[in-house]
Amino acid sequence: MLRLYTMKRIIPVILSTLIVLACVKDPQALAPVDYVNTLTGTLSTYNLSTGNTYPAVAVPWGANVWTPQTGADGDGWTYRYDATHIRGFKQTHQPSPWINDYGAWSIMPVTGGPITDEAARASWFSHKAEVATPYCYSVYLASHDVTVELAPTSHAAAFRIKYPQDQPAYLVIDAYQGGVTTLKDPYTITGFSVQNHGGVVEGFRNWFIIKSDTPLTEAKNDGQNIAFALAESGKTVNLQVASSFVSQEQAEQNLKELPEGFDNAKNAARDAWNNALGRIEVSTEDIDNVRTFYSCLYRCLLFPRDISEVSADGTRVHYSPHDGKVHDGPFYTDTGFWDTFRSLFPLLNLVYPEVSAEVQKGLVNDYLESGFLPEWASPGHRDCMVGNNSASVVADAYLSGIRGQDIDVLWEAVTHGAHAEHPTVGSSGRMGWQLYDSLGYVPCDAGIYESAARTLEYAYDDWCIAQLGKALGKDVSAYESSACNYRNLFDKEVRLMNGRLTDGSFRRPFNPLKWGGDFTEGNPLHYSWSVFHDIQGLIDLMGGEDAFADALDRVFTMPPHYDDSYYGFPIHEIIEMTVMGMGNYAHGNQPIQHMLYLYDWCGQPWKAQKRIREVMNKFYTPWADGYCGDEDNGQTSAWYVFSALGFYPVCPGSGQYALGTPLFRKAVLHLPGGDVVLEAPSNSAENCYVKALKLNGKPWNHNFLRMSDLQAGARLRFTMASDPACERGVEQEDKPYSMSE
Ligand code: CA
Repeated sequence: MLRLYTMKRIIPVILSTLIVLACVKDPQALAPVDYVNTLTGTLSTYNLSTGNTYPAVAVPWGANVWTPQTGADGDGWTYRYDATHIRGFKQTHQPSPWINDYGAWSIMPVTGGPITDEAARASWFSHKAEVATPYCYSVYLASHDVTVELAPTSHAAAFRIKYPQDQPAYLVIDAYQGGVTTLKDPYTITGFSVQNHGGVVEGFRNWFIIKSDTPLTEAKNDGQNIAFALAESGKTVNLQVASSFVSQEQAEQNLKELPEGFDNAKNAARDAWNNALGRIEVSTEDIDNVRTFYSCLYRCLLFPRDISEVSADGTRVHYSPHDGKVHDGPFYTDTGFWDTFRSLFPLLNLVYPEVSAEVQKGLVNDYLESGFLPEWASPGHRDCMVGNNSASVVADAYLSGIRGQDIDVLWEAVTHGAHAEHPTVGSSGRMGWQLYDSLGYVPCDAGIYESAARTLEYAYDDWCIAQLGKALGKDVSAYESSACNYRNLFDKEVRLMNGRLTDGSFRRPFNPLKWGGDFTEGNPLHYSWSVFHDIQGLIDLMGGEDAFADALDRVFTMPPHYDDSYYGFPIHEIIEMTVMGMGNYAHGNQPIQHMLYLYDWCGQPWKAQKRIREVMNKFYTPWADGYCGDEDNGQTSAWYVFSALGFYPVCPGSGQYALGTPLFRKAVLHLPGGDVVLEAPSNSAENCYVKALKLNGKPWNHNFLRMSDLQAGARLRFTMASDPACERGVEQEDKPYSMSE
């Protein structure tokens, strides 16, 4: 009796507890990867980018990425959120639609007949019947009644394809134009893609192999596309897929990356993401902010890509896009330093130093194999953007304590690149270096486009070389001197940076709203702040702290007017500025992304805090239109990751971060030297101002944090408030680093 009585009482309690657990799932119990939305940024067009991303399925820094393909073969907009049809599942290496792809090929299951044409084989699909995660993508292909699942390793992938009972089943391989596909035996397909947009030498191949657990026969061959018939209908077919830039044999070798069974591949990829994403933990009551944070961090960990491969004897080798040969060692690619020097590489240096060390070894290989460091790599040198910011990427890594790279070779590389132009690729080395060296600026009348942007970035790059050289015991007096060259472009009459002619006069008429021309994808209002290493020097040029702060304010308070005459139409970056309702502040593009933090140098850090919080809340979401412009290989995401933690690397190479405003009540960085615990218990949407900060228990009034303090493990405690703390961070000693100090 007692027992029965007890059970009657207990069972309802257990049931109600289970119901509560099921309904009110603790969001903090999810793993980091569960917060990632890989569709963020995919609602983009040529005219308006909300990220220009695709749902990349890969492992962190993986060589290959897989994506559902909604666009035609060759279309840079490979997956669009507003599309209704999927044409295939593409192995891609595309870093940006503007750079496009290389080595692409795709797999598409079809039913009914061997439909090879890419438009005819396309299937209706719904986001409601799609599960998009970093480690696995699955979708129901309605037109074929087929469910596809795929899970990646770095060079391989597992596919699980469920075909219907009542239709003949086929598998189409699209090797892209010029590609070749062959059925080696009933269980093995081999082939290669030659697709590329430059950055490789003649004879480039992406060799692939597909192992099927179900026998295949060739049903239709139209050259680029081949349809293979499956022996029977109603099967779940498992494919093991791998590729190699080295050889067909190496592609087969790369199959060994895959564990047995689809679910094991999926779980291994999931673990890889959780290990990498979990290096930063955040706590907040606003789950959307956690989603945005991990969606951004996911983007940061996709680039640059490690395309090296492990050969049969266990050696790490890579195909070199520079000479077409196979060399030992790592090789990283698919990044544009004009974007990513700013905060993506500093993020790797702080949180993922072991990856950064491999990237630096890869840069050594770039230089040894091509004579230059890349500025835009995909996979070899690409002609895109300006600057010589490889100097920043090399110097910041070394000065952040990254070791293992041959720094003597890298020193030779950065000093060589400062005084040389790549023979065929305009953006590698320094275009106009002779004029820059003789005049102290690249003149705007010498046929070198975007000359003012180049000058400003070369001056910062010279400062980077000087800092690296000092650490290596070199004579850096020449670089210390040319690091001041930004001053040569400051036009006192207009109080902004301006293009300058060979005779020393400034460009007239001057229009601060003119995009392009002497600048790169921005106007003088955006680019005048590109003096990362000497904000104090810029303040002095602009007439002091108040004038400097007024100039910053004006960017936000003025209307979003623009002059697009250089391009002849408003480029997407211009439209992205106008639609955000923040005047001429153009966060959708990179040149201005550090600007909000500059209030830290002029005694008004609370203005930085307010604007940074506003940008985090307004310009970033975890949804399909989640970015405010091209995401650009982790850079725009790294801005958010740093900013949400409460600091940002305005000047990579300085060993400092400018202080902003933390987004979360608690964040923990698991660094090799110890945990960095950031606490802001009074944080909220209203309490966006830093009233006080303690570092390791002691008051810290400065507007900067030192990297060395964080690397040792640190405890930061922020007191947040709804009103600005106008007494905090206003002394000269509170300003972050400037060369002029
Ligand atoms: Ca951009």
